[in-house]
Amino acid sequence: MSLVDTHCHIHDTVDFDLSAEEIVQNALEAGVDRIITVGTDVNDSLAAVKFAEKYQAVSALVGVYPLIETAPNIEEFDKIIIQYRPVGLGDIGLDYHYQPYNRNKQLKLLENLLNLAQKHDLPVSFHVREAFDDFWAVFDNFPKLRGTLHSYTDDVKNMEKGLSRGLYVSINGILTFNKSAELNKVFVQVPLDRIIFETDAPYLAPAPHRGRKNQPAYIAEIAQFFAAKRAVDFAQIAEITTKNAETLFRLSG
Ligand SMILES: [Zn+2]
Repeated sequence: MSLVDTHCHIHDTVDFDLSAEEIVQNALEAGVDRIITVGTDVNDSLAAVKFAEKYQAVSALVGVYPLIETAPNIEEFDKIIIQYRPVGLGDIGLDYHYQPYNRNKQLKLLENLLNLAQKHDLPVSFHVREAFDDFWAVFDNFPKLRGTLHSYTDDVKNMEKGLSRGLYVSINGILTFNKSAELNKVFVQVPLDRIIFETDAPYLAPAPHRGRKNQPAYIAEIAQFFAAKRAVDFAQIAEITTKNAETLFRLSG
């Protein structure tokens, strides 16, 4: 049995009470044998790709979080991609949750990064919060893009828009403590061949670890919870979601 954590932030271990070795070892012991660690600005992305070089189980995504203050140098980013070959881009997207936000700046940054994703034919882990109308308008200018809606908490309608565009839906610990009826519908309806799991560690620890630091090993608990919710065999859920992650990020099997 094999599981994949498709989105976490484990390269900066000051955020954890564990060493990098312990984080990776715990994951392997829980059957989580592939981990994708995600950058949120230029320096953090460099840290992510360098961390991934050290651990066989770990791959990296490079990106600039929509709420980052200073616009990155896109050429510098292009060079990081060429030199380190990350398996995709992320966290990138739009986030209008926190006021005030700079809509034009976020849109420009997203477009610049999607140009890079398209140029290098890399999948994207999208961070989209309260911004889906703008997001679809930008996304539809890049018809060849592949990706996933990271930490999806929006409604069924936007899930369907994503599915019709070939996107995957990323499910994390929110599944285990969700109280929204609409989001519950998403968890019940999302097709199995479009789901991937992620922890977003160190954030969003699943029940019963809520309030503590999350880690990739907890993918096993998220997968168990999901299997029970959908009344599908855990082994089958593990197999399908691992295959989905391998397909999207072109991980070797
Ligand atoms: Zn993240």
